[in-house]
Amino acid sequence: MNTTDEQGGFDADVAVIGLGAIGSSAAWRLATRGVDVIGFEQFEPGNAWGGSTGKTRLFRVACLEHPGLPPIARRARDLWRELEASAGERLFLETGGLMIGPPDSHIIEGTLAAAAAHDLPVERLDADEIARRFPAHALMNPGDVGVWDPEAGILRPEAAIVAAAAAARAAGARILTGTRVVAIEPDAEGITVRTDAAEYRVRQVAVTSGPWIGHFLPELPLTPHRVIMTWFRARDGHSADLDRLPVFIRSVPGHDTWIWGHGVVPADGAKTPREFGGFDAKVGPEFDGPFTADDPDAIDRVVHPGETDEIRDLVAATFPDLEPEPSDVTTCIMAHTPDGQFLIGATEHPRVFVGGGCSGHSFKHASALGELVAQSVVGEPHFTDAAFLDPRRFSA
Ligand SMILES: Cc1cc2nc3c(=O)[nH]c(=O)nc-3n(C[C@H](O)[C@H](O)[C@H](O)COP(=O)(O)OP(=O)(O)OC[C@H]3O[C@@H](n4cnc5c(N)ncnc54)[C@H](O)[C@@H]3O)c2cc1C
Repeated sequence: MNTTDEQGGFDADVAVIGLGAIGSSAAWRLATRGVDVIGFEQFEPGNAWGGSTGKTRLFRVACLEHPGLPPIARRARDLWRELEASAGERLFLETGGLMIGPPDSHIIEGTLAAAAAHDLPVERLDADEIARRFPAHALMNPGDVGVWDPEAGILRPEAAIVAAAAAARAAGARILTGTRVVAIEPDAEGITVRTDAAEYRVRQVAVTSGPWIGHFLPELPLTPHRVIMTWFRARDGHSADLDRLPVFIRSVPGHDTWIWGHGVVPADGAKTPREFGGFDAKVGPEFDGPFTADDPDAIDRVVHPGETDEIRDLVAATFPDLEPEPSDVTTCIMAHTPDGQFLIGATEHPRVFVGGGCSGHSFKHASALGELVAQSVVGEPHFTDAAFLDPRRFSA
């Protein structure tokens, strides 16, 4: 079945495949540029099956992962705020964030390098100051130091994606949910996008299908992993609220690894916006565990006995205020590139662009990554230097 033939044989200028974190924003940023966009989502925006489920995501500006990331984080924050205004609900909560580790660790050196590159207002803390200002973090390895990023916070991923998809629709994008793309077929004039029910002719495609990018662009080096997320309650009589335990990435006393997370977000609405209430503390490990998932469709969504033992031990070693047995668990998918950076922009295929390569830290940037994808598609200069995210860096 062919769909309507609206413009010289094309159904739309651009098809966006996958409306998760990056795709919903790419569709929004394309539509606001006047581009005729059609977006395809196999489930619905804000679904629990890709890489963006789990109630919260950490936001940091002094990004230890690369000194090129702070301008992307700040642009992303502006766009999250714009989405908050259009959706009429809070999506981002600034809490500040604490990195703790040895002075020569990637956590500390990477954070300071990103801060130095953009003159960010971070604070260096010694162990005494950490223990005084953040007693929940008082257990540390000897010699550990801290860096405070006052611009850090938490985002609500599912709600943010729903808001971006709604903004895309409001700007004129056609959004097809429950519609799985099964193939993209480029030819000399354009691209045929096949779903299980219809086919569409478009001029360009943005592949933003997260862990499923390999279904369309198998040459890109992206490895999906099954990851388990875990939440923890405060012990009776103890507080591990977000103001005591704000966003963190830190070393673990007596262990050669690190953990990330944030404290309990109380449900009472007194200290936090209504929408942010009711989340237990979230703590995750730096390691992904031995859970590869070559085909995201085949991943095991059940968390089995024993799978949370390691994170339980790390929480017990670090946070005396938390019950070490998780109060909740779920699975999610992380998709890694070899250098831990995203895949944003043109591919080796003419007219095919990509936005993905999560590597465990893309959500905070997703609204701005969607904008970078949109700028690549329309041939507009990027708002910041994004050469380190060029998917063709792996081609050589
Ligand atoms: C456990 C965990 C913790 C994380 N913590 C953080 C954090 O604290 N901070 C941070 O910044 N980042 C974090 N990340 C990373 C971040 O959440 C992900 O990188 C990001 O959400 C991925 O977004 P995406 O748009 O690439 O993919 P997704 O959001 O997964 O979107 C892909 C979409 O494409 C759709 N799709 C796939 N195939 C098709 C098809 N054939 N047809 C139609 N639709 C299709 C999917 O259904 C999905 O909705 C974390 C990731 C995980 C897994």
